[in-house]
Amino acid sequence: MKPASKPPILPRATTHSDSNGPLRAAKPLTPAVQDTKRIQEHQIMPQHTPNLVELSSAEAKLKIRQFIEDEPLFSPIKIQIKDPIKSNIKGIHQLMPETIHLYCASGNCSHLASTTWEAVNASGSLHAYICASCKESKAQYWFDVKLIEKQTTGLVNMSPVEVIKSFEISKLGQRPHWAPKIPNRLLKNLGPSAQLFRRGVACLQEGLGIGASAYFRRVIEEEVKALLDLMEKAANLDGDQAALENLKTARESQVASERLKIAVQKVPISLRPGNANPLAVLYGALSGAVHQEPEEVAIGTAKRILKTFIFLFEELKERMDSAEAYAAEIQQIRDETKKSSNH
Ligand SMILES: [Zn+2]
Repeated sequence: MKPASKPPILPRATTHSDSNGPLRAAKPLTPAVQDTKRIQEHQIMPQHTPNLVELSSAEAKLKIRQFIEDEPLFSPIKIQIKDPIKSNIKGIHQLMPETIHLYCASGNCSHLASTTWEAVNASGSLHAYICASCKESKAQYWFDVKLIEKQTTGLVNMSPVEVIKSFEISKLGQRPHWAPKIPNRLLKNLGPSAQLFRRGVACLQEGLGIGASAYFRRVIEEEVKALLDLMEKAANLDGDQAALENLKTARESQVASERLKIAVQKVPISLRPGNANPLAVLYGALSGAVHQEPEEVAIGTAKRILKTFIFLFEELKERMDSAEAYAAEIQQIRDETKKSSNH
């Protein structure tokens, strides 16, 4: 079974009315910085950058667009470009997307899942976008760019010409602040754990990966029973006897993580879209070494748990419920037909 396509997690935006508030950032904005100086101030990092794929300018733009739309603060991405760009801030500006897509909370737009936002002005590391639909809401981003690799391509007027080969970009601030859109159905399905879940999301918004993944792990622990129920529903619908037997064994354990550990060994096919096993992702997160994880790794873990929860508790649970309701209705119709034909 292929996972159904779902809308991207959209950062929330607010209306123009609160656009005078302070930019959400870890520290106050410094006065306008000298563009080129800013880049030169950064240390060139070691050139060992594994797993970096060379991107064309268009691909890099797309990647930066997704980064702007979906990534929380302090969650850097690395970019390596095929066509080297100028070694000053203008080079980076070339790669900034002209448009992005965000949710707009203004009166005219709030009924839409997202609207197109156009780049307005960029000065140094500050970039702004305006909702093209209402022309009211404004989104601002404060970026930090670190050079990874520079190249000298030749001499012009006896001075070397340098170009950027790769760099790292992260968000230092954003207004309105970034928040993953948590579907209402997910919160409803999470019940009492929704509170912990929200706290995890709040940590993720601040770039606090260790905090976020600690809260999300608590949610997993509290939701083990619900996860096992979901698996039982799927196993019944799939007619998967082995999974049902395995679930019985899992439920005998007193420890939540142990129950999940046993359960993930036989996950019914309808909970394994493609080759993914979302239950194993959750168990993996639960058993991971949270105390030793650096912040960056923890942010990755938290993001994986967030996506998995949305997928399991929003999409799959609803699908299972409607499949179950459908099966029950068909059975009822069958019973009624049998009864009337016996008359
Ligand atoms: Zn708008």
